[in-house]
Amino acid sequence: MLENMRTGMALYDVQEFHLIAVNNRFKLFLQEYLCPGKSYEEALGCPLATLLPPPKEVARGILNIFRAVVETGQSYEVDKFPIPMAGKGLTYWQWTLDPIRDDNGTITHLLHSANDVTEHVLALQQAEQVYTSLTQTAHSIDAERKRLEVIEAVARSVRESFDIKTIGQSAIDAIQAAFNPTCITIHVADALQRKLHLLHIFASPDIEGIKNILQEVPYDSELFVGGIHRHKQPIIIENLQASMQKSEFDSNRLAVIFGIQGYICIPLWSGEQFEGALTASFREYIHAESAQAKTLEGCGMHIAAALAQARLHAEIEQEQMRLRAVLAQLPEGIMLVEAPHGRIQYVNAAATEITGITASEQIDFQMQNASLEPYLTDIQGNPIAPERLSTNRALRGETINGLETLLRRQDGKEVFLLTSAAPLRTDDGTIIGAIVVFQDITTRKSIEQQKNEFLSITSHELRTPITAIQGFAEILQLRANEPEHPNTFRSQHALVSIIDQSKRLSRLIDEILDLSRIESKRLLLNIRSHDLIQTLTQVIESQLIMTKRHTIHLVLDGVTAQDTLTGYFDEDRIIQVLNNLINNAVKYSPNHYEIEVGLRFSGEKADEALIWVRDHGIGIATNELPHIFERFHRASNLDRSISGLGIGLYLVNELVARHGGHIQVESTEGKGSTFSVTLPLHPVHTD
Ligand code: ADP
Repeated sequence: MLENMRTGMALYDVQEFHLIAVNNRFKLFLQEYLCPGKSYEEALGCPLATLLPPPKEVARGILNIFRAVVETGQSYEVDKFPIPMAGKGLTYWQWTLDPIRDDNGTITHLLHSANDVTEHVLALQQAEQVYTSLTQTAHSIDAERKRLEVIEAVARSVRESFDIKTIGQSAIDAIQAAFNPTCITIHVADALQRKLHLLHIFASPDIEGIKNILQEVPYDSELFVGGIHRHKQPIIIENLQASMQKSEFDSNRLAVIFGIQGYICIPLWSGEQFEGALTASFREYIHAESAQAKTLEGCGMHIAAALAQARLHAEIEQEQMRLRAVLAQLPEGIMLVEAPHGRIQYVNAAATEITGITASEQIDFQMQNASLEPYLTDIQGNPIAPERLSTNRALRGETINGLETLLRRQDGKEVFLLTSAAPLRTDDGTIIGAIVVFQDITTRKSIEQQKNEFLSITSHELRTPITAIQGFAEILQLRANEPEHPNTFRSQHALVSIIDQSKRLSRLIDEILDLSRIESKRLLLNIRSHDLIQTLTQVIESQLIMTKRHTIHLVLDGVTAQDTLTGYFDEDRIIQVLNNLINNAVKYSPNHYEIEVGLRFSGEKADEALIWVRDHGIGIATNELPHIFERFHRASNLDRSISGLGIGLYLVNELVARHGGHIQVESTEGKGSTFSVTLPLHPVHTD
């Protein structure tokens, strides 16, 4: 049975391990390994040392095992003992070496079993190799997945943000969560100032101080990050400390101070635009091919793109803000509307002021599908068809210049608008909206209207005396041809009328000239000392001569007709003021003939006189009172047959003001009016 076992068996004595017996299987082993040239018979009885082939180290090792078993009495067992065999290469053997004892327990023999397990071991080794390479592949796939995950996390966190600060923070948070760098920074480039500004930093607590140093890094700084704009590729330093010792990077000693080993600096390029830099510092060595280096490079691309996008966004916003600031300051109303429906996008402050609707109200207004359209008419007050509105015309591509319209505001005020509008187009000509610019021309319109009225009144007023003069002159001409009646009553009347009408004509012309002098600041006063009581009585006397039906009653309060009340004024102009007020009192009291002219000290100041002219005529409506001193203003309750240019009171007011005084009116419609002039008596400096 032993002979035919698959395991080789051999028996040795314990003195020099002579081979005593072997089975068939061991014989093969003997021939193949131990003594390839010898026969089994020759090997029997030989000590093991003579049987073992070179190399010596293997032989010595085997002998040591044999000796150890004898010395210790412990069996020896090995799974795969490597034995090089000529022609076969390395073979593996499963071995046992057991001591055999006699009855006394003394080891007398060693039993050696040997089993060739080469095939099994090789198969196992192969399987192990396959396993190892599979594990390596799995590892690198895992590392790549992790790398992509970090890049994706950074990309996701920066993609949606237009805010540069958020980009910095979220990118650094994502990177920090993935690796364990001791410091990460993102700087943004300032091409104008040629420096980098620190956008965000993570620094482990023990190197916090690095923040201050990295706040601003000029392009010409010796720090790596300062010069990174000159590089397209990252700078990766495996071991900064070693580099420093070789004094390659002398200026970056900081890194040494902060105990940094591995260092990565990635330039952030978006196309040809340098946006800034991403750096990461590690306490361990960083290989150029390391996962960290590759991942950060990948992150850098996304951060650069996000920074570029945020920068453009900020530039556009700034541009828009500048534009809006300009628009907001403009005195013209500006409205921007969107195509195709004309939804209001923007209105400036002037537009709000003019239309009386705030920007948000205008937008709300439109939300409710309402629009300003029903409130806009042409200047005659006729409705404008929607398609003729300037906004809609501009949205259809038309440019409108100087269109006049009338807006009835919600507060009831009517505003005349001068509107221009133009379409807003993209480069390819598509209309994306319209800009509407409008001015409030109400004041201009009303001046224009007053001017037109003035011209028509003036021509009418001038024509009346001229026609009368012509008529009376013709009568005189006819009379002259009748020598027998040269001085009849009719001739006398014609002469008086011609003189009256000429005076009226010259008064009108004087008023117009005074108006123009005042407007152009050419009216000069001839201020001297005069007795005001005398001036006043003189005016009343001459008025009494002229007036036919009215009586003018002088009231002196606190002074007598014999007193002298010296004042400094231009007498002609004060006479003009008084005549004007008395003429108006006469003119606007067609049915009540009592007129009172009074004089007293003003009461407020001792050297100020107060003169009043009171009538009981048609009076002035309360709503007209604030306007009657305005140029060309004539009250609406007037019988238009009462002549006048509407500039008398304007001149009176101006003349009194030039003397340092002021005029007031109290009036009740249908009951009469009192005009009161206060006049300083002391010399007043006027311009
Ligand atoms: P006018 O040439 O029309 O008289 P004024 O400037 O002197 O121009 O007066 C302006 C307007 O003030 C008049 O048209 C009239 O409506 C009103 N007014 C002036 N004085 C009186 C008055 N005494 N009584 C009533 N209305 C007056």
